[in-house]
Amino acid sequence: MPLPASPHFMLRKLAEGVHVAFATETAAATCNAGIVDLGDRTLVFDTFLTPKAGSDLRRAAETLTGHPVAYVVNSHYHNDHIRGTQEFPDAVVISTDRTRNLIATKEVEEIRSDAAVAPQRLLEWQEQLRAAVDPEEQRQLRYWVEYARVIVESLPSLRLVLPQLTFERRLVIRGPARRVELVTLAGHTPDDVIMLLPQDGIAFLADLLFVGFHPYLIDGNPDDWLQSLNTIERQDVATLVPGHGPLGTMDDVRRLRDYIAAVDELAQDLARRGAVPDASLPVPEAFRSWGFGKFFPANVKFVWERLTAGGH
Ligand SMILES: [Zn+2]
Repeated sequence: MPLPASPHFMLRKLAEGVHVAFATETAAATCNAGIVDLGDRTLVFDTFLTPKAGSDLRRAAETLTGHPVAYVVNSHYHNDHIRGTQEFPDAVVISTDRTRNLIATKEVEEIRSDAAVAPQRLLEWQEQLRAAVDPEEQRQLRYWVEYARVIVESLPSLRLVLPQLTFERRLVIRGPARRVELVTLAGHTPDDVIMLLPQDGIAFLADLLFVGFHPYLIDGNPDDWLQSLNTIERQDVATLVPGHGPLGTMDDVRRLRDYIAAVDELAQDLARRGAVPDASLPVPEAFRSWGFGKFFPANVKFVWERLTAGGH
């Protein structure tokens, strides 16, 4: 049977009853999602940036497994992982207690701010795209233009969905086919839930792992993130599904650790010299091919601010 198709994601089977949906360049999905057949019910891990991509995800999940989606997991509060949740009205929505609170506060603010600034941001990025000459810069700007466009388009129909079932550290869901473990770590945001499928040797790491993309450090804590990467390295899993980018391995976990160390070193150097980070900060060679390049100067500035806070 061919895998269900959507312009917003590419499905790939990882094991019998386990699929990943990789976001495509339409930006309507933006993050990766997981579809897990428990044997008699289906679980979906993260629901994309927009209801339209979320709706395709629900259809794909039900087609692939033949069961309704009983559980939706919101790995963390970021918009690109939760805004398709409204398309799963019959599912129990699960997150940590703290993520639920962050959806009720920060995501509400984010929706308000998107309504106020997203149309303007779309025009600015379209302008930047027209002016860009470097092909890589054009490619990245084309993505951000689509990102802004799908946000503007999705706002009128967007509804806030708060998780109904919350936990603190760990939640296990058992079905006839497999056991799913949700484990709370931190670093990308105050709470980042990963999903372990021990029988399959698969981990869905949400935004604690970016592969081929700059990670987003700004809403979290780099020290906690490094701790979480230690925990991830101790897991007996071979297949790592990142929140953004293609499938990864423990090498990608090490590369991410190197990235956080490089950002920290740069920020420390600036702080020592009394210098201020600016937006033109060059990306180190090792990470130059990664997507979301504009996160780099922002990440350095964030770590620099943490170092220099209190000194002012
Ligand atoms: Zn995120």
